[in-house]
Amino acid sequence: MHLRSFLILVLAFGIQQLYGQETYKSVSAEDSVLTYPGGKPYEVHTFAQKFKSKNPRNVIMMIGDGMGTSQIFAGLTANGGHLFLDNFKQVGFSKTQSSDNYITDSAAGGTALSAGQKTYNGAIAVNTDTVAIKTILEMAEEKGMSTGLVSTSAITHATPASYIAHQGSRGSYEDIAADFLKTDIDVFIGGGYKHFTERKDKRDLAGELKQKGYQVLRNMDEIAEVKSGKLAGLTADEHNEVVPKRKMDLPLSTKTALHILDQNEKGFFIMIEGSQIDWAGHQKNTGYIVREMLDFDQAIGKALEFAAKDRETLIIVTADHETGGFALAGGDMKTGMVKGAFTSGNHTGVMVPVFAYGPGAENFTGIMENTDIAKKIITLLGF
Ligand code: MG
Ligand code: ZN
Repeated sequence: MHLRSFLILVLAFGIQQLYGQETYKSVSAEDSVLTYPGGKPYEVHTFAQKFKSKNPRNVIMMIGDGMGTSQIFAGLTANGGHLFLDNFKQVGFSKTQSSDNYITDSAAGGTALSAGQKTYNGAIAVNTDTVAIKTILEMAEEKGMSTGLVSTSAITHATPASYIAHQGSRGSYEDIAADFLKTDIDVFIGGGYKHFTERKDKRDLAGELKQKGYQVLRNMDEIAEVKSGKLAGLTADEHNEVVPKRKMDLPLSTKTALHILDQNEKGFFIMIEGSQIDWAGHQKNTGYIVREMLDFDQAIGKALEFAAKDRETLIIVTADHETGGFALAGGDMKTGMVKGAFTSGNHTGVMVPVFAYGPGAENFTGIMENTDIAKKIITLLGF
């Protein structure tokens, strides 16, 4: 190998290590298509818009990683013209730029949403000086609320990590896993088991979690049976598989987590992520985008089911950024066919939608900074 090619390889590997971006490639859809042929739609329910209070008691934050308006409309078309998202009457837009880049990554994007501060790409809930900044989840804990995280990636991946860990670099998965032990989080469900158990420092964090009273479970059926107590659901060694191969069930995990968290009179905060809408964009795969989008929307359906009954719960659905420069070049509402086109294999700088349902939802309209979303939630919860 020529020295120059070797140096380029070393550089490429270094960049990959730095951002940890390439880890999505450990899971992959089998097809790779620009056109999704259509499929059987699920039924979308309409939920009441009547709420008990002016301010929410509980907040459900739902992040579709890489989910821009085209991703949403691809899902809507594939499902025959409707999504659970139709229930959200307050809609705004979020500007996703990070402190050092027009194009954010999911770490800086996650930190903006979790802590309300712009930071550099790769940062996990630390500011531009790499000093830890408090997240909404941590503030909720301090107030005695219950807390949770659910993700279809590893639970140590950038988006969920931004709510619970403080690390200068998103690729520090083992350090991020160790940060879970420093908190009092009640429920987390996602992949990443090996970051807790196969560690350079030889700590057995699964064992330590058990000692702290967590039910540490790896199987979705067992996880879905948990009704109370602390739960660490680690459903994959690293990332969960793609839909429909995925054993971890996002809508069911959402329902399970909400049931457990709803036993605290002080309320709860949870972040639920549809992680792989992003990976589908990186892979320029319309079918993968549609399937992950519909999975995420059905999780939104579970959140709505809970919130419509509870009437004191605010649901925010947004994205950290758009991925793929995804556009719709054709579609059919009757068959569900979607023809996609991509302008990028990476994130883009376009603003992403913000949807709000529940008490306080009216605050999330217009064009806002991604950091404003966190600030508004903090204000509404009285932190
Ligand atoms: Mg993510
Ligand atoms: Zn991405």
